[in-house]
This record gives sequence, C-alpha cells and structure tokens, in this order.
Amino acid sequence: MFAVNFDALIGSFVRQYNRHNMNFPAATSGTPLPAPDPGQRYLLYLHIPYCAVLCPFCSFHRVRYEPSGARQYFDCLRREIELATSAGFKFDELYVGGGTPTVSPAELIKTIGRVRELHSITGISVETNPDDLGKDSLATLRAAGVNRLSVGVQSFDDDLLREMQRLERYGSGAEIIERLRRMEGSFDTLNVDMIFNFPHQTEATLRRDLQILTEEIGVDQVSFYPLMTVNSTKKKMSETMGRVDYARERAFYEILAEHMQANGYTRSSAWCFSQKPGMFDEYIVERDQYLGLGSGSFSYLAGNLYSSTFSINHYVRLLEADKTGTFGRLDMSERDQMRYHLLMQLFSGSLDKTVAEERFGGRFQRTLWPELTMLQTIGAVRNAGVQLTLTESGYYLWVMLMREFFTGVNNLRDQMRHNIPLETAILGSG
Ligand code: SF4
Repeated sequence: MFAVNFDALIGSFVRQYNRHNMNFPAATSGTPLPAPDPGQRYLLYLHIPYCAVLCPFCSFHRVRYEPSGARQYFDCLRREIELATSAGFKFDELYVGGGTPTVSPAELIKTIGRVRELHSITGISVETNPDDLGKDSLATLRAAGVNRLSVGVQSFDDDLLREMQRLERYGSGAEIIERLRRMEGSFDTLNVDMIFNFPHQTEATLRRDLQILTEEIGVDQVSFYPLMTVNSTKKKMSETMGRVDYARERAFYEILAEHMQANGYTRSSAWCFSQKPGMFDEYIVERDQYLGLGSGSFSYLAGNLYSSTFSINHYVRLLEADKTGTFGRLDMSERDQMRYHLLMQLFSGSLDKTVAEERFGGRFQRTLWPELTMLQTIGAVRNAGVQLTLTESGYYLWVMLMREFFTGVNNLRDQMRHNIPLETAILGSG
C-alpha cells in the first residue's frame, strides 16, 4: 500500500520554497536603511558574534572570542547605535543575542548603558551560556536593567553535552542545574533554551531533561528548539553527533508539549512554554518591524528584510567610515509579506484576522485563500471568531514550518558568508 509521509512532504515543500525565495542579491556596496516611521518605536536587536567555544551543530554567525578584536567590535556597535539614533530610529525594547553576548561583560554593560542613555527602554533581554552565571556578573546585568536572561543549556545529559563539545566548557548537567537554581528569582524572566531530537537522544533522556526543568529547577520559561541542520554544519555534525532523523521529531515534540502543559506551563509559541506572560525569544513574532545592528544581524523594516555584513573586518571598516553595517536587502512582494505575517502570527498560536486585514488593505484572506483553505482542510487551524488558531496537530506543523524557516535563514547566513570571500577566511569553518 502507498503511504504518504505527510510531515516529510511539508518539510520538503517549505525547503524548496526557501531555496527559491530566500536569496539576498550579492551586494557590492553598502545598502542604506529605510527612514524610520516617525510614530513607531522599534525593537533593537544587537548581535554579538563571539563564543568561547564553537559548538558543532551551531549555524549562527559566531567566531571564537578574542579580547582585542571584541573590544574594537563593541566600539563599532556603539557607533552604529548612535548612527541609527541620528537617523531617527526610536527604540523601546532591546534584545542582545549571539554568539554569546556575555563573553565580555564590561563591553556588554557599556553598550546597554549607551542604548539606555539614548532611548527609553522598557525591556532588555540577553542571551548567555551556563558558565557566565557567576554571582557578580548576574548582579551587574540586573543593575544594567536586564530583566530577561536566556540561558543556552540544550540538555542536562552529560553524554549529549559531551557530543556537543559543551561539557568541558559549560559544565556537566549537575553543575548547570546548580547554577540555574542559584539564579531563581533574579530576573523577571529566566528562560532556558533546550534542543530536542538529537541523534542519540532517547525518550528516556528527554523525559529526564523535562523532569529536571519542572521538578528540580523552577525556570519561568523553556524554549525547545528542534535540532536544525544546514549545509555548512551537516558534515561536522554527523561526525560528532550522528545523523538527524526527522521521523522521531513529532513524537519528541508531543512528549515535551504534554509534559510542560501538565506541569503548569502554557505555550507562548509552538516551542516556547512559560509559567507567566513575558517577553519571549521569538521577538520577530511580537514585533512587526525590528532593527538589527552588528555584524550578521537581520532587520525587518517596511516589508523588506535587510542583512548586515557577515565580515567582521568589513563591518569595522564600514563603521570607521561612519556607515552602518547594512549590506544586503531582500525585497518582499505583498504576498510574501502576508505569508510571513501568517507564519509568524500562527507561531504564537493565533492570528487576528481583523488586524491582518487592516494591515494589508482588506486583501489578506482574499490573497491567501489557497494557503488558508489548505490549512483548514488538513485540520491545522480553526476559526474562533476573529481569531484563526492552531489546533493541536497544527502546533507540530508549525514546529516543522518554523524549523524549515530558520534553516532557510541559516542557509542564508551561509550564502552571506560566501558573498564575501574574505569573510569566509576570517570565520573559518567553526
Ligand atoms: S550554540 Fe551558542 S555557544 Fe555554541 S557556538 Fe552557537 S552561539 Fe556559540
């Protein structure tokens, strides 16, 4: 009998869509940012591309930490913040990601301080790793106004941590638990980033991770990312961690979603579970537009996607010439913008149809009727008044769609690195 693997079919469709639609033209000169909307306050994303060690599965824009280069980079980043401010951008929220933003705490604090001098910021979220959770650094971050800390844990299982090459640098599962316990109550939101569907992860190791999260430490929020592979990391990853089997992903997701909800967490997005409302990692869902500064950052402004240069040397040269690091622009048609809106809004669980119609001049449902009809036919969404909401099976579909979307973004990062041959030499293979 012929059986269709529906999950694989959808994954392959989205992969092909990404290949055709997510291509930044190879820019040869700086790309100016559009003028900001005067009435709008934006989220500011800052990218810190430094890490103490480079994990084999990671496809983010990151290089090995080196103090003097990092100091120069932070100087340029502060200059870029000033340039964006002079151009009229107003920010009310700050998200610092990487890389490992806390790799140089003094520079990070100085940079946050500069943003706060220039803008009225109501929320600051910073990503970190478990080895940066010393008492002093936590107090300094709090004093700098950081109210949400997101810790990259990935798993508490020592064998998996060893395979990820994180055990030595970031500590064993038991050490990480101890550090997280010490932090309870230190920030408005303490988020832990986990990964599921590692090649050598079993149902038992996943269940043990879940038990630790809900019974042994009381973090406010947990984000479970499905393991993602991209062309540049595939080989290294399969050598060190094994080959990814997407056929197991749904079962793992169902286990973790059931466990978290049975233990008092609600879904803030398809893969983020929170004990209370608050800022979450996927700021791209909550904010219609955002500005990203720093090498390798992305911005979504006026319906177009912008990328900064992925060459740190090039970034420094641009800033020394008083130019921003923006280097490529992906123009999106109105239909693409609608699909982006649909993808991001339903990732949070629901889409407000009235808001979507207002935003797209009353053309949203009319234009996207094939997508909306297909989603209803397969039982992924349901109408609830003005809201379109995900069903239980729709949540897993969205995990797949977002996994493929981020894989597309990560492959785009590869492409951006290739657009500048010099940059590839600087970054190395990780
Ligand atoms: S997973 Fe985190 S710590 Fe590891 S290389 Fe990527 S950004 Fe750096």
